[in-house]
Amino acid sequence: MPPSSASLFPEKPPHGVPVLLPLPLGGTYDYAVPPGLHAEPGSFVVVPLGPRRMLGVVWDRTPDAPAPAIKLRPLIEVLPAPPMRPALRQFIDWVANYTLSPPGAVLRMAMSAPTALEKPAIRAGWRPTGTGVGRLTPDRAKVLEALAAHSPQPGEALPATPAVLRGMAKAGMIEPALLPAAPRFTPPDPEHPGPALSETQAGVAEALRARVAAHEFSVTLLRGVTGSGKTETYLDAVAECLRHGRQALVLLPEIALSSQWLARFRARFGCAPALWHSELSPAVRRDTWRAVAEGSAPVLVGARSALFLPFPDLGLIIVDEEHETAFKQEDGVVYHARDMAVVRARFSEAPCVLVSATPSLETIANVEAGRYSELTLPTRHGGASLPEIEVLDMRAHPPERGRFLAPPLVEAIEATLARGEQAMLFLNRRGYAPLTLCRTCGHRMQCPNCTAWLVEHRAQRRLQCHHCGHAEPIPVRCPECNAENSLTAIGPGVERVQEEAALLFPDARRLVMASDNIPGPAAAAEAARRIEDREVDLVIGTQIVAKGWHFPHLTLVGVVDADLGLAGGDLRAAERTVQLLHQVAGRAGRAEAPGRVLLQSFSPEHPVMQALLHHDLGAFVAEEKAQRAPGHWPPYGRLAALIVSGEDPVETARIARALGLAAPEMPGVQVLGPAPAPLAMLRGRHRHRLLLKAPRGIAVQPLLRAWLARVEVPNAVRVQVDVDPVSFL
Ligand code: ADP
Ligand code: ZN
Repeated sequence: MPPSSASLFPEKPPHGVPVLLPLPLGGTYDYAVPPGLHAEPGSFVVVPLGPRRMLGVVWDRTPDAPAPAIKLRPLIEVLPAPPMRPALRQFIDWVANYTLSPPGAVLRMAMSAPTALEKPAIRAGWRPTGTGVGRLTPDRAKVLEALAAHSPQPGEALPATPAVLRGMAKAGMIEPALLPAAPRFTPPDPEHPGPALSETQAGVAEALRARVAAHEFSVTLLRGVTGSGKTETYLDAVAECLRHGRQALVLLPEIALSSQWLARFRARFGCAPALWHSELSPAVRRDTWRAVAEGSAPVLVGARSALFLPFPDLGLIIVDEEHETAFKQEDGVVYHARDMAVVRARFSEAPCVLVSATPSLETIANVEAGRYSELTLPTRHGGASLPEIEVLDMRAHPPERGRFLAPPLVEAIEATLARGEQAMLFLNRRGYAPLTLCRTCGHRMQCPNCTAWLVEHRAQRRLQCHHCGHAEPIPVRCPECNAENSLTAIGPGVERVQEEAALLFPDARRLVMASDNIPGPAAAAEAARRIEDREVDLVIGTQIVAKGWHFPHLTLVGVVDADLGLAGGDLRAAERTVQLLHQVAGRAGRAEAPGRVLLQSFSPEHPVMQALLHHDLGAFVAEEKAQRAPGHWPPYGRLAALIVSGEDPVETARIARALGLAAPEMPGVQVLGPAPAPLAMLRGRHRHRLLLKAPRGIAVQPLLRAWLARVEVPNAVRVQVDVDPVSFL
């Protein structure tokens, strides 16, 4: 919108409507409404943009920005879709303002299924044939049972993986059938009998239900040790939300790893919830978006982007594992879904519940300041005890040469397997080895596009960059000194631990769980099933295995390198390590048999190990607070990062320096940098960072805006703003 034209013709009344387009542009564009069309704020409209037609949303006119008096092009069409609600429009504006993103870029996230606004298409689902010959596995029985109750149903609504359904179709047990034009999600039944809650759980559930019934904004931290029944308890709040006829949104950090969670949901409500994540097919995306907009998806479970769905009447938001960094979106619009969930709840006048066994310091600080309330489940459900945690001093118990498992851990695994119980080895590193170097000249194999070592993936006989995806065969000769067969693997990844386990425990049935071999929800669900059904004795995995799994026969967890996460040394390295290791440890001993956890560490005296050893997270949090508060580090102050990147190293450095010189000067505000980023090169782009630190009382957005306005940035250089950064790479 040209800002000057309005003031030239101040006497003309505003006409036309402002339309926000899902593009990273400055603001809204005005369009005339042709006679006979009715467009109100929130209406989805088709407008001309240059030679193109584009879908946009009629936006709210900001009071201080009158409409331009130039001749406006008319709208082409007003779509017969429910208008976007004020709560979502306000949320989009708020997120744009907070993250310094163009509002259109945020709107794009709210319009991620544009075909949802078109006419419903014909879709296929499954119906039972009543015949067919095939083995009646429990999964298949469940599918037939679901179809007996209601048929046809879309594949996603059935309690089995696509592979199972295909198998059943092949066996002639089910066949494709057309679905009714407007597919509906089965409404979850709040009165479907769930497990009887314990007295403590019931108390907490009652408090949560009261917040739902209040129909007003509130934020509650639901804190409870792993296995205390947090999920069971908040599902009760979801039931209450359903009774009030409002929609509930549950955010999970890794929806692809949530098969057990979904099974729990089905057990509690008698049907599956609507799902939202990046791997949905376009058709399912469209139907889900539409169902949410129509209010016919009463419960939606999703990844962070679900926050931007068009709920007409949101009555509850749950953020499970609220401390997870997976809630931070790092590219495009950079936002933290946990924090934005709170904002979305505020605009929707709904309660927000943050759930964790190890809450973030941010959330703890909000509880201490009285902004959030807290409910606690202090013990594991059903009398299961917390696992016994030991720190294995690797200096006192060195592994054999070329090995990574200390003798006491090897013995503990042997004993566990001998008892017929399951064990797990955790190492948060994919591949075979994180570093390959030449024994002759010391050359390290590095990514050509990134400041990163190449990781060996032995099974594929390749070296891979985990940042940009670059891959190359493992060379026979050192590229530097030409020495033959001189390249050697340094350090372990899960594949190497698996190799060692194969030597040590040849009879154990082993399963590796890393993103390389668990590419999606179906593979994760299958892996979980194999562990549950005791087809596996020893699980070896990356952080995938740490997530909320419930494996009743798993009694031993060995952490191969408990110091790993401490190395990077950023602000939250210790906090994140405690959270991750606590969560891994929480996989052990979740049923009758007590669990045991061994942490291999070279610094057993580190506060992180001590906190885990003594189950004393309170002391750890107090210590972190004492370290962060005086210097106004988050959550006792605010941070915002500028990441300057470009292909031309000289030009990029020049802009970074210019930003450094133009840095805001204000009492209490500090700007660190510019400095080359730890990932000084990423995907071929050179990177510099600046970090602004301010006391809590200062809003950083106006400072950032004024700062950025002082420096002219050429197109070839990009300046990304990251308010409340989580990653410092
Ligand atoms: P958390 O979310 O705190 O880790 P969960 O809700 O996953 O805990 O509960 C852990 C296990 O205990 C799950 O298998 C769950 O089904 C079971 N459980 C929790 N509460 C109850 C209850 N009141 N009755 C029966 N089983 C329960
Ligand atoms: Zn790379």
